Amino acid sequence: MHFFRPTQLLIGDGGPAHAGWGLVVEHGRIAAVGPVDDVAPRAGSTRVVDLVGTLLPGLIDCHTHVSLSGGLNPVADLKTEGRTRRTVRALHALTAQRRAGVTTIRDMGGPEGLDLELARGLREGWIDGPRMLAAGEVVCITGGHACFLGIEADGPDAVRAAVRKQLKAGCDLVKVIATGGVITAGVEPGAAQMTPEELRAACEEARKAGRLVAAHAQGTEGIRNALVAGVSTIEHGFFLDAETIGLMVARGSTLVPTFAAGQAMLDGEAAGVPSFMVEKIKRVKGAHIASFQAALAAGVHVACGTDAGTPLNPHGRIATELELFVRFGATPAQAIAAATGNAARAIGRDDVGLLAVGRRADLLWVADDPLEDIHRISRVRGVWMDGRHVEGPPPQSVGA
Ligand SMILES: [Zn+2]
Repeated sequence: MHFFRPTQLLIGDGGPAHAGWGLVVEHGRIAAVGPVDDVAPRAGSTRVVDLVGTLLPGLIDCHTHVSLSGGLNPVADLKTEGRTRRTVRALHALTAQRRAGVTTIRDMGGPEGLDLELARGLREGWIDGPRMLAAGEVVCITGGHACFLGIEADGPDAVRAAVRKQLKAGCDLVKVIATGGVITAGVEPGAAQMTPEELRAACEEARKAGRLVAAHAQGTEGIRNALVAGVSTIEHGFFLDAETIGLMVARGSTLVPTFAAGQAMLDGEAAGVPSFMVEKIKRVKGAHIASFQAALAAGVHVACGTDAGTPLNPHGRIATELELFVRFGATPAQAIAAATGNAARAIGRDDVGLLAVGRRADLLWVADDPLEDIHRISRVRGVWMDGRHVEGPPPQSVGA
């Protein structure tokens, strides 16, 4: 049994920091959390771990692509780089994520089942990294956005078959492409792609198998189609309007804005990010921020996803996404909840994301106070998964 005594503790529910609170971990799960005097274990076998700084839940990145290079043009890299290099890079992505305090990632699509095999290796414990939920190949229309990562399927029957194929391959969730996107040449972010019937077919197959559906959805019509069909998360969500925001509130769906991806492309213009991508991002940026602010004001759930792997957006920089959440109107507590409690809810995992009794002891220790300055979330001192210390120098512990 371990008894953690940090300077302060964040539960991950968007509430204030608790100074003088402790956390008891037993058999990899959180056994107690509360004021130190109330939860201090009596047993002599307890190790006490005193931490200067903040203890919070391990972070969750709800939108990654471990198969994408994060180079100037990851779509071109997919075509020119071999499988071996892609696999080695993906393993490095896992390492980089966990070093940044991320204990769970939801990978949103890659080719040839690489992400599914990595998720399996992590689950079975023979490779090291964060927990991973994997979508496998995305489902899109012929020539649609992200067709380089996916199965092209046209018509509800073909979509059903594509989703069933991913379920058979062992996907943890289904990713559908409801609109055009930024990094695919020749498609428009605002234009709908999969039809309402196709999206409904995908959601039906996923629901029967107990999987959630995430929709890449940027334009208003596609966002509406995806929500009505029953997806649980809207990825990117550039053009929300009052109707789609109302639908999200009514259905309890979550917005994953992935600001870091667009910002990296804007910042990378001079470095040589393809101009068609930069041009599209410039056109949508204002609407993207306004959509996020309107969603926040209306009480839509928001969750943190980096879209790591997209141009000049490497894995392991979740702090950048949290900083952008705050820059665009979230409080630091809301941003942290978006990467912890709300993220766990968005991805359908009630065993992680909160420092609450019964949840897995996935913990992040950072120096000082990220509520004062969200950038401090990047000062990672230590990470635990299932109560096991996995990153950072081992902290001192003493017998109680
Ligand atoms: Zn993505």
